[in-house]
Amino acid sequence: MSILVYVENTDGKFKKSAFEVVSYAKSIADNIQTDLVAISIGNVAGDELAGLGKYGASKVLNVDNERLASFVNQAYASIIAEAVKSTGSKILVLSNSFSGKGLAPRIAAKLEAGLADGALELPKINGDKLTVKKTAFSNKAFATLELSSDIKVIALSPNAYETKETGGSATVETFAPNIDQTDFTTMVKEIVRATDKVSLPEAEIVVSAGRGLKGPENWGMVEELAEALGAATACSKPVSDAGWRPHSEHVGQTGIVVSPNLYIAIGISGAIQHLAGVSSSKTIVVINKDPEAPFFKVADYGIVGDAFEVVPKLTQALKAY
Ligand code: FAD
Repeated sequence: MSILVYVENTDGKFKKSAFEVVSYAKSIADNIQTDLVAISIGNVAGDELAGLGKYGASKVLNVDNERLASFVNQAYASIIAEAVKSTGSKILVLSNSFSGKGLAPRIAAKLEAGLADGALELPKINGDKLTVKKTAFSNKAFATLELSSDIKVIALSPNAYETKETGGSATVETFAPNIDQTDFTTMVKEIVRATDKVSLPEAEIVVSAGRGLKGPENWGMVEELAEALGAATACSKPVSDAGWRPHSEHVGQTGIVVSPNLYIAIGISGAIQHLAGVSSSKTIVVINKDPEAPFFKVADYGIVGDAFEVVPKLTQALKAY
């Protein structure tokens, strides 16, 4: 029995979440004294694949097929489920990323497996039972889930587990799955990148702003602060609804869920729907001119002040640092 971990790539380079899930799965594998096998789908170079050995994978299954160069939910789910069966794996780990959120339930249904999506910590394993802490109700609560199915699927929240280099090496094997034509109900023809900036769901630092900024013309100071910190930019829902910022930056219950190490909220009131998307951030800094703003209740650090005075000073101080 081994543990299988699915690793995502962008344009042939593994995403940060790939190293997180491998490190996480390696800890589980060590705990139950088994091997860790990774599966990669898409056009990834051999040295990149073998590099997963440094994080604990002993073998990497490589699915390199022209038709799978872009993400196709149904097809990827079928392939990963097939790999779980052919490796005899009892635990599958993947990231609870955009694509992971679509894949995990499909794979679990195909394998009749229990699913813990949004896992936050290493699971406890007791015989055939696995318990794990996870997010619940759009990040407004935590749950501890017990899985007792034969096969178990864990989708790990991005940024929930630190990558660890263990220094091993991995062999790379070609995996040629049965590709079912009916899995290709949708086909990605072209990918147009909205931005070359830090990817929001994976960012370690996020600088986010709300209606307190008055208008799109004032976002220069947000971008400058983000640049000084190497951060991604985000916004509240009304800001993207008004067209001040693209919808790809909207965080919250109806937007992207982020869990960075540092979330800086500027001129955002802290409505429950916004907090649903950010409450698992490790450190929250709030800048708001209203001392009664609800966001301060969940902040680790708060600055009561006018964003138009505070933010440029903060950026200046960081640049001088
Ligand atoms: P406001 O509530 O208008 O707050 C602006 C804040 O800026 C205030 O706290 C004010 O004190 C402060 N401010 C003003 N001027 C300054 C200044 N010069 N310096 C510093 N601070 C200043 N919202 C989301 O964000 N994400 C979601 O996913 C989401 N989903 C929703 C789903 C549903 C079903 C519903 C009903 C609502 C949802 N909302 C969501 C909307 C949410 O309820 C709030 O209306 C929204 O988050 C408020 O955005 P805001 O904080 O930018 O604006």
